[in-house]
Amino acid sequence: MTSKPRVAIFDFACCEGCQLQLVNLEEELLDLIAVVQPVQWREAMTEHSEDYDIAIIEGSITRAQDEERLKEIRARAKVLIALGACAAMGGVNRLKNNFTMDDVRARVYGKDSAMPHLDTQPTKAVGEVVKVDFAVHGCPITKSEFTSIARCLALGKTPLIPNHPVCVECKMAGNVCRFEYSEICLGPVTRAGCGAKCPSGGFWCYGCRGFVDDPNVNAARDIMAHYGKTVADLRSRMLLYNSQQELANGPDTQY
Ligand code: SF4
Ligand code: SF4
Ligand code: SF4
Repeated sequence: MTSKPRVAIFDFACCEGCQLQLVNLEEELLDLIAVVQPVQWREAMTEHSEDYDIAIIEGSITRAQDEERLKEIRARAKVLIALGACAAMGGVNRLKNNFTMDDVRARVYGKDSAMPHLDTQPTKAVGEVVKVDFAVHGCPITKSEFTSIARCLALGKTPLIPNHPVCVECKMAGNVCRFEYSEICLGPVTRAGCGAKCPSGGFWCYGCRGFVDDPNVNAARDIMAHYGKTVADLRSRMLLYNSQQELANGPDTQY
């Protein structure tokens, strides 16, 4: 990509909160536009072009027609970025995969409702349908991380996505560990990059940035045992953002 990369932003099933973070970049958005050219962004512009280099995908994939649309986008884009937890790992939407789709339909559309045009299927992350080149993690994303990734790509550099646990940032922030308050925190297995936002604000980490690539599962188990908690307690915390995600190989480690 020699000239300014052309960027298109698309949304699938989500709350659009991550796109809102982009809109909220405000003045920094103007700096970004100096190095990339937005050509399609439903939430922020009326112009529309199908000629783009970088596709940014927000939201999870919950219908067959979404899969087809996503594949078409992938075929046009040189680089594809998953924006936020919904896109990167299915996010909160993945909670529904713990139920049958009939139960989900009945809960959302009513027990006797016949609405075939409002179809649904188990939630997939973008990477389960097409190749993802980079993910901007979080629910919502962290603005500074997004701008850093966007600048790297505009300069032809490979962005660095953190692959160490939230605990590292939490310790650097000098927080008292939430386990000391008899809470359960997912910081030991969750990917850093948010600056340990939740523990720094007095809450446990909910795991919104997904697991690190190689989580220290044994250490997490040791922490749970040390504080009198069980693996079932840990699993219950993981349901919100990490339903049916692999934490490590083994029959008792899918959540
Ligand atoms: S990751 Fe969170 S903030 Fe972003 S679109 Fe999904 S639900 Fe909304
Ligand atoms: S509060 Fe959570 S993130 Fe912070 S050190 Fe304790 S377990 Fe790790
Ligand atoms: S502390 Fe955990 S839940 Fe909170 S923003 Fe960071 S990764 Fe997400």
